[in-house]
Amino acid sequence: MNGTAHMAAGAAAGFITANSVQGDFSTTAVLVTIGGISGLIPDLDIDGKLSNKMTFSPKMIRTVAGVISILMMVYSFLEEQGREQWIGIGYGVGILLLSTMITQRRMLMFTGIGVTAAGWHLNEIWLLLLGLYIIVASLIPHRTYTHSILGFVFFGFIASNLESSLVLEGVFEAAMLGYASHLIGDMKLLPFNKRGVKLFLPLSSKEF
Ligand SMILES: [Zn+2]
Repeated sequence: MNGTAHMAAGAAAGFITANSVQGDFSTTAVLVTIGGISGLIPDLDIDGKLSNKMTFSPKMIRTVAGVISILMMVYSFLEEQGREQWIGIGYGVGILLLSTMITQRRMLMFTGIGVTAAGWHLNEIWLLLLGLYIIVASLIPHRTYTHSILGFVFFGFIASNLESSLVLEGVFEAAMLGYASHLIGDMKLLPFNKRGVKLFLPLSSKEF
């Protein structure tokens, strides 16, 4: 599936979650957004060895870095207070500037380092773990660990810490369903997928 389809499936997962927790309008909007983003996360491995070929241009990597920095500014603005608010926004601006200046393939890795530093500075464990996830994703080949059960479990730690930070029911569920929808959408059992996902890495490289 392409990015738009993955995002739509993740957003649908967020919507289903919102209904199951009987969320109000703003909760629904947050869960749909979290589901949609989670549905895209596994493809952050775009900077791996295979990515040079065609699918992902430097422009797209810059777009991804830009979106991450803007979301970080929004999160800091809404969730942090006083000095922390400005630190978070500062990191967001920094990553945004960096993403417009660096055009090389390692861009995503620098973004991950920035996100990890921001998480550490703000004491937000989910942000720190997400930064580490982005760093690893930027180094591994496409459709490997981020598209495995190991990647899914690691994302679970990010999602549960995000739920604790936001204090909002359904965040964990929306994120996990969104992420799972991506792995299912990339599976070989769907007729439009030529390649599958190696769910049991590093134990087995069998594709599903
Ligand atoms: Zn994928």
